[in-house]
Amino acid sequence: MNILLTFDVEEFDLPREHLIYISEDEMYLHSYKGLLKVLDLLERYKIRATFFVTLNFAKRYPQLIRDISEEHEIGCHGYSHVDNYKILGISKIIEAKKGLEKIIGKKVYGFRAPRGNSPGLENLNKTGFIYDSSLHPVFIPGRYNNFFESRRIFKQQNIIEMPWAVSTLLRLPLFGFAFRNFGGLTYAKLLTKMHNLNFAVEGFHPWEFVEIEQDVPFYTKRNSGDKALRFLEEYIKWSLGRGYKFKSCYDYLKNENIIA
Ligand SMILES: [Zn+2]
Repeated sequence: MNILLTFDVEEFDLPREHLIYISEDEMYLHSYKGLLKVLDLLERYKIRATFFVTLNFAKRYPQLIRDISEEHEIGCHGYSHVDNYKILGISKIIEAKKGLEKIIGKKVYGFRAPRGNSPGLENLNKTGFIYDSSLHPVFIPGRYNNFFESRRIFKQQNIIEMPWAVSTLLRLPLFGFAFRNFGGLTYAKLLTKMHNLNFAVEGFHPWEFVEIEQDVPFYTKRNSGDKALRFLEEYIKWSLGRGYKFKSCYDYLKNENIIA
């Protein structure tokens, strides 16, 4: 089993989504603090992961993102986290890709749409990315219904889709939000053991690892902060103990010869 930890590094706009005031500075600072905690944890266990970063965030902390790119993979999480690429199309995505590449001085291969609002693979095909990891093959009420989409990696023209990990049948998701809400480590261990593919793309947000003080709905902040960080550490220890490998998305595609 290969665990592909992914972190969406974005301005923390969740309160605004729920019409709660948060200043621009606070939005960045919240994610920044969480990001430092995540980096420290990964460093301690010598784990390589993928960070999907908005260009806005990278512009705010260019040196940090450059430093991260030395150890981890940097992917693109769009220009701004409020962007809806279902409506906006791809020009701003291309701008974000170029901006990130300029900041880190390397190619960016992967894309993940903010809030799953992807312009579709037929359009992403023209952006120069090698893979997309926007597809969450699950039903999230009020957000999207991808219940019948593929759990496996597939290719459409020039672009590879790496779907988020979900279980067979019930499509129970393996990602930060679910781990925090549906029983933490017990749930995570069970679903990982039952996961009958040799890879699991698991999504987290740096902002989950900082206590959320804003009055956002309880399910969005349950078990956030230090509890979430402790969970991730225990999960990593348990996974390493079982001999699972941690890789970046791009390294996984290379190792499996899915890309040359
Ligand atoms: Zn996001």
